[in-house]
Amino acid sequence: METNFNLDAAIRKVPDFPKKGILFYDITSILANPEAFKYCLDAMEALYRNEQIDAVAAIESRGFVFAAPFADRLGIPLILIRKKGKLPGKTLSKKYQLEYGEAEIEVHPEDVPVGKQVLVVDDLIATGGTLRAATDLIASAGAKVAGLFGVVGLPFLNYRAVLGNIPIKTLIEYH
Ligand code: 5GP
Repeated sequence: METNFNLDAAIRKVPDFPKKGILFYDITSILANPEAFKYCLDAMEALYRNEQIDAVAAIESRGFVFAAPFADRLGIPLILIRKKGKLPGKTLSKKYQLEYGEAEIEVHPEDVPVGKQVLVVDDLIATGGTLRAATDLIASAGAKVAGLFGVVGLPFLNYRAVLGNIPIKTLIEYH
């Protein structure tokens, strides 16, 4: 694995998106750069290869992109956590607060391995609200959340306070 890859240089920063004053860290520039994408997947594999992870749960939609090849590399099940109304089978759901308004995510409980250790993956962790809701959802389906992963972390938004003592790993942090 390439260890001195410059991931920062591969992340597009978009000022004032989705609204004025927000700096958006765009990961489409990672996906469009095969070396950067491979670096991320190699790094994820190295972080978790020797941990007890039985399944990976991915947050729609950018979490899917990283979690799917990761699940394939580790040979473990992939569970999709989707926005309300997208999953066709029987679902469990969890509402959570956004800065303005409310969101709701769902999972097929049948896809969640009861009693097993699940890693939850998203592209970026900001306030931690999305991963908190996902963690509660996976727990309500009977599995244990063994860890949380984001390619990018914004720790100045205090996500660790929201996410408690679940181990969190990121590939790059912005301060
Ligand atoms: P949180 O719930 O931690 O506040 O926000 C994280 C969620 O919002 C993630 O699902 C992530 O995809 C999205 N998000 C928020 N800010 C950004 C950003 O700057 N870049 C990207 N790629 N996603 C973001």
